[in-house]
Amino acid sequence: MATTQNKDYYATLGVKKTATSDEIRKAFRKAARKYHPDVNPGDKKAEEKFKEISEANDILSDEKKRKVFDQLGFYSDQIDPATAEAYARQQGAGGGRAPVDFDGFDFSGFQGGPGQHAGAGTQTGPGSPGWGSFKDIFSGIFSGQQPQRPRGPQPGTDLEYQATVDFWTAIRGGQARIQVNRHETCPTCHGQAHMGGVVQCPECSGTGQVTQMGGRMKFNIPCPRCNGTGRASNDCPTCQGEGVVTKSETVEFRIKSGTRDGQRIRLQGKGNAGLNGGAAGDLFLIVRTGTHPVFNRVGDDIQLTVPVTIAEASLGAKVDVPTIDGRAQLKIPPGTQSGQKLRMRERGVENAQNPSQRGDEIVTIEVQVPTLNDERSREIMRELGKLNNQDPRVALFDKI
Ligand SMILES: [Zn+2]
Ligand SMILES: [Zn+2]
Repeated sequence: MATTQNKDYYATLGVKKTATSDEIRKAFRKAARKYHPDVNPGDKKAEEKFKEISEANDILSDEKKRKVFDQLGFYSDQIDPATAEAYARQQGAGGGRAPVDFDGFDFSGFQGGPGQHAGAGTQTGPGSPGWGSFKDIFSGIFSGQQPQRPRGPQPGTDLEYQATVDFWTAIRGGQARIQVNRHETCPTCHGQAHMGGVVQCPECSGTGQVTQMGGRMKFNIPCPRCNGTGRASNDCPTCQGEGVVTKSETVEFRIKSGTRDGQRIRLQGKGNAGLNGGAAGDLFLIVRTGTHPVFNRVGDDIQLTVPVTIAEASLGAKVDVPTIDGRAQLKIPPGTQSGQKLRMRERGVENAQNPSQRGDEIVTIEVQVPTLNDERSREIMRELGKLNNQDPRVALFDKI
């Protein structure tokens, strides 16, 4: 069996195994400047070296990839860090690296059990406990390819959607609708997924074996689709053997008055259809309430800014302000400042849990300064200035 040297990415970049990501980045940059093909036109050796350092950097600069490499002494996209760790633990050696080279390795050779893998060039000898569980570990690598679907009833999965509800519907309650994509029981096979009979497995063309590439490694593994038998069940053409089809559907739902932004609504049985008679999942809606050009809703409170004249603010006044129930009178106390907040009790939103409770409307006063276009108004303003000549900036300077 042909074996190649394991790569030592750390040596390639000239860093210690304990190097920080910063040190790795710096080492790569330095080497890249030296070996970049632009700097060494036509130099095959430099080009090769540049490829090597790029590969080393690709692995070591990625925390997950580096972890796999540290555990196994090689890297493959097919292996996640948890599997690598489990494998390293299996190897015993206190989490040390396993100097195994899988290049060109025919994995199917292991099915006969330990003893057939002479020449793999490993520390772990044939028949050692490490090898016995080797197959189990690698079958775990190709996760998500469970060969056989369970035949019993399987419940459908839940769905979660964000549902935008307009400002007034959220406050007053009402009906709303949302478009969802959900799995429905296949109308052709009624969820059976198969049409009966057996056909040649389309995945492996009947050979029962498929080749998996993992970086430089190549594995022949039993075909996950047919479990190595080369024969597959006759899948329903409508659902391709899934038993369910995806359908876009408009779902109508009721909104309680006072529904808040972010509130969850559960619609039982409106999730994905189950398999083999399993119950459907639920549909969860996260309500996003719409905004309004004047009212700003914060929980059950309504906030808005109301402009008043200088005369209204200084002398006091009763002004009409908008509320979610229509106009209401607000008393502006004499001497109200711009930015001051006035609370109108129970003019806010009905509480969804307790409809007898209402929020408040909080009015921010904005004093509007008039533009004086006539001499008489300017005269009055000057007069007013003379009569009230306190310096409003005194407190400001006092604090310095
Ligand atoms: Zn079907
Ligand atoms: Zn197959």
